[in-house]
Amino acid sequence: MRTSELVFKSLRETPQDAEAASHKLLLRGNYIRRLTSGVYSFLPLGYRLLRNVERIIEEELDRAGAAELLLPALQPVEIWRATGRIDKMADVLFGVEGKSGSFVLGPTHEEAVIEAMSPDIESYRDLPKLVYQLQTKFRDEPRARFGLMRTREFIMADGYSFDVDRDAMRSSYQKFYDAYLAIFARLGLQAEPVEADAGSIGGDVNHEFMVASTIGEDHFACCASCGYQANIEAARAGDREPVKVDLEVEPKTYSTPNAPGIESAIAALQALGVDVEIGGMLKSMLLIDEADRPVLALLPGDRTLNVPHGMRLADDTQMAGFAKGYIGPQGQSPRVQVLADPLVRTRPSWASGSNEHGSHVVGLRLGVDFSVDRFENLVVVEDGDPCPRCGASLSLVRSVEVGHTFQLGLTYSAVLPHARFHSVSGEELPYWMGCYGIGVTRVPAVVAQQYGSPDGDAVVWPLEVAPFVVSIVGVGATKDNEVTAISERLHASISEAGLSVIMEDRNVSVGVAMRDLELIGSPIFCIVGARSLAKGVVEVRERIHDRTIEVALEGVVETVVALGRELASERR
Ligand code: ATP
Ligand code: MG
Repeated sequence: MRTSELVFKSLRETPQDAEAASHKLLLRGNYIRRLTSGVYSFLPLGYRLLRNVERIIEEELDRAGAAELLLPALQPVEIWRATGRIDKMADVLFGVEGKSGSFVLGPTHEEAVIEAMSPDIESYRDLPKLVYQLQTKFRDEPRARFGLMRTREFIMADGYSFDVDRDAMRSSYQKFYDAYLAIFARLGLQAEPVEADAGSIGGDVNHEFMVASTIGEDHFACCASCGYQANIEAARAGDREPVKVDLEVEPKTYSTPNAPGIESAIAALQALGVDVEIGGMLKSMLLIDEADRPVLALLPGDRTLNVPHGMRLADDTQMAGFAKGYIGPQGQSPRVQVLADPLVRTRPSWASGSNEHGSHVVGLRLGVDFSVDRFENLVVVEDGDPCPRCGASLSLVRSVEVGHTFQLGLTYSAVLPHARFHSVSGEELPYWMGCYGIGVTRVPAVVAQQYGSPDGDAVVWPLEVAPFVVSIVGVGATKDNEVTAISERLHASISEAGLSVIMEDRNVSVGVAMRDLELIGSPIFCIVGARSLAKGVVEVRERIHDRTIEVALEGVVETVVALGRELASERR
């Protein structure tokens, strides 16, 4: 291909709304163009990149034994009612009113795949089945961000597995999991599988595949010592040695008018000469459980609450009868269940609200002045917390989620009467499912962030995703000189050798050509110049390891092919 055919016109200026380097690069290089917030077109260069990502995913999932299919994006609302997700996913669903009824633009495809597959799953002999698709998803994301990173319309590679029992489901899960690792390696991404939270998809065991990135919206905790890794929504800190409570101190009440909340309480207490720090204040937060009962959660004042599953923060009405801003665990009525993070055992005494507006208590002791019904991990993990497996120090890594795998179990099949098969003994049983997703259109942004320059004006794509593996540029090319003739010849023979290649053929200066080619990001450049041709050589630049070699004209194709092979094998 030639640059003139690619409608390639790079942007001279920094796009205004682009904050992330990857976003700038993809806009400047004319890979994508925004239609509206969170909705993008893929221009020819970007589409080549995307197709490469899709091809890698297809090859690895086919190899894993999954069959590709295509499910509808337009789905009748009834199938979303049947699983109850019409409510659970209400905040992101796009609805469409048609003449014949109401529809949902699929944000994910569990409902649709069950409808498509169930008629073919009659008996245990029909299982296992592994399928996947590359399909557009629609999610009304409140915050579309960083170009392709978070969009309202995006392509996902979503897979589904159907099995007879838990063990069989686990073995299908493993197939997808292994395929994911192979896919991310070929994409040039170091994706870490971390234990994760199942969210609205449901199910039990699940992993997120996270790529460390400064523009990530997620964090995962990892232990360098034993390899434990978990998303911070799912991560737990290990236990610490409990300390003995201080039997010498006595709780003392201080008047602290207009000092609700931890920060102002500390200021008020310190003003009274009390020696107290934020980590020594007890945070008491009122939650409501699934049965609408009040639960008091206790944690140190300097930690953030990770609201337990099935619970929510109490609203103002539910706070009636509690001294909002001054709540403490002491003297609570038995109808309030008191939950505490294990960290509450690590201080001899605590400062806390007094349960009366305008005063705080200092010197409250666990087991003496207040009691706890149950200890449970309640805090969001932080850098330096002990690992739950080995006790070494955890560290937090900012990251982007590129994939997610779930063992769904019977979450869907239990509620859908047609999601059944006949077992060996003839019994009708719900099948065991798994579901798996890769953010296909998110991948180019993540790869660009990883392999692009910090200011978003150049990139070296990993070999297998590069829109063009080789770029050819002539220095001092005119319409009919030798530079052009040799460039044309190389273009034809490199392409014949099976590598994707683009040649600069526009009437632009070498400076402009080079700058644009840096945006196209081929890992291999061939620079054909009159001066080197006089010596019978062409300059070949391998940009991943930054090697430049002069190659005799007749050996250029062979050298380029060998370099391509070498780079491909490095990525697997
Ligand atoms: P996130 O936490 O990033 O919102 P999610 O957990 O809601 O993602 P899943 O339902 O697990 O997403 O979808 C599988 C994959 O699809 C994700 O790992 C991610 O790579 C991709 N993805 C999800 N939402 C978007 C989006 N709005 N734009 C682009 N890709 C997305
Ligand atoms: Mg997810």
